[in-house]
Amino acid sequence: MNSITKTDEAIGFIPLPDSSGKPITVIGTDAIRDSFDETCLQQAINSRMAPGVTDVVLNPDAHAGYGAPIGCVMVSPTHIYPGPVGVDIKCSMSLLQMDIPEDVIVDKRTRRALIDAIVSRTPTGAGRGQRTVKNGRHIDRETGVLAVTEGASERVCEALGIPPRWASRCEDSTHRGHDGTHDALGARLELILAENRVRHFMDKINQLGSYGGGNHFGECEITRVVDRPSMRKTADVFGLKDGHVSFLSHCGSRGLGNVLAQAQFRDLERKFRAWATPFPAGDKQLVYAPLGTPEANAYIDDMSIGANFATVNHMLINALVLEAFQEILPGATGELVYFISHNIAREEIVDGKKAWVHRKGATRAIPGGHFALAGTPFAETGHPILLPGNPRDGSVVMVAQGGAEQTAWSVNHGAGRAMGRRHAGRTLDQKKIDAEFDASDILTNCRKYPIDEAPDAYKNFPEVLRSVEAAGLAQSVAKLQARFVIKD
Ligand code: 5GP
Ligand code: MN
Ligand code: MN
Repeated sequence: MNSITKTDEAIGFIPLPDSSGKPITVIGTDAIRDSFDETCLQQAINSRMAPGVTDVVLNPDAHAGYGAPIGCVMVSPTHIYPGPVGVDIKCSMSLLQMDIPEDVIVDKRTRRALIDAIVSRTPTGAGRGQRTVKNGRHIDRETGVLAVTEGASERVCEALGIPPRWASRCEDSTHRGHDGTHDALGARLELILAENRVRHFMDKINQLGSYGGGNHFGECEITRVVDRPSMRKTADVFGLKDGHVSFLSHCGSRGLGNVLAQAQFRDLERKFRAWATPFPAGDKQLVYAPLGTPEANAYIDDMSIGANFATVNHMLINALVLEAFQEILPGATGELVYFISHNIAREEIVDGKKAWVHRKGATRAIPGGHFALAGTPFAETGHPILLPGNPRDGSVVMVAQGGAEQTAWSVNHGAGRAMGRRHAGRTLDQKKIDAEFDASDILTNCRKYPIDEAPDAYKNFPEVLRSVEAAGLAQSVAKLQARFVIKD
């Protein structure tokens, strides 16, 4: 039993303890609502009651996180919250659509060769970067500095061999500083380096074009467009090719985002203590800064530097994955479908007013016709939503519906964890997991699939999808069926 009041098949709300203000919106069918543990629900309430917060949405993938649940949206017109953005600033998904028909990769040897070609260019694992792989890119300091201050700008793309047209396929190809300029970020970076807040800067820059460990992955897919005329049209605009190979990537800002975020948590915590300011609900993970203060400006700048890193990281990974496909299948071409984050705070218009929308394990979901997409390739259709599930049950590309207005134009970012890593290690059966991959003919680069990353460590993806569609937030445009997975 929990405190969620159901109003529809997949929509409910949690009233605020003092009954003041807008209740927390909860997306999920009965089965999903039962998946939220007490910590997750308490974090949602703490986040909603925190200073300046006007709205919180709990998505079907929600589970306990850092201060706020992973799988939530938190809106504030007046405050910025670093904890709910998290340590992996701008962790994101990107999808590369290849022109390769699915039968070309039926042969296991072709897929093995592709795995080898990809891992020789895009390393996985904590700490690993371009210098640790055979066919990596050389990244000089000047390019590294430009990458974190400008994101996927034309000169950064050119220096790294990234098609500059991919910038139009990014939710944000560049992030600017608190005053809306790149100069603010340049100045902030100089300060950060002078104060030695980021040690071994070039080792961190070297991690551009790498996945990192744990939950991050690259996955080769077959794109299956939903067989409905309207979805086929949307799929065309997205650049999806039915029955063809595509590649889904999940990673963030690696070591750089991590140290910037941790330093911000530490700075703000110290200031709260010095000023004797109480932490929201006594939780130091919910430290915040009122907009316009030096603390908020510093955080927005550091988040933007991390976000630019993540952007160039994804663009470079996609360029390297494309190069790997071309090595094994000469003449192959590929185009970026979209790049979209699930750990970021963005300034948007919500209910007619400017506000910072914090998406912690949540994905922006704006339908066609909305002014925020004007001038983008997706103005009429709505932008692609990249939703990973798990390798066994697949992933999906969705497009937002009008119902997403209820959730500050957001959906979930995946299935969401059902089990903690240790719990998964104790309860799941390694042999069964590996046998399942064999039976579905999904190859991996791992000798044994990481047990804490097994499909059953995550929530029931079909039920999560049913929740999103039943709540009217988004609809599936295409399914992605895994053919091989690259994980640490
Ligand atoms: P995060 O780790 O960013 O919180 O969640 C990302 C989401 O990716 C998870 O909720 C899960 O549904 C999904 N996911 C995790 N590992 C894999 C994988 O190997 N393949 C696919 N397709 N999805 C995955
Ligand atoms: Mn991440
Ligand atoms: Mn992520």
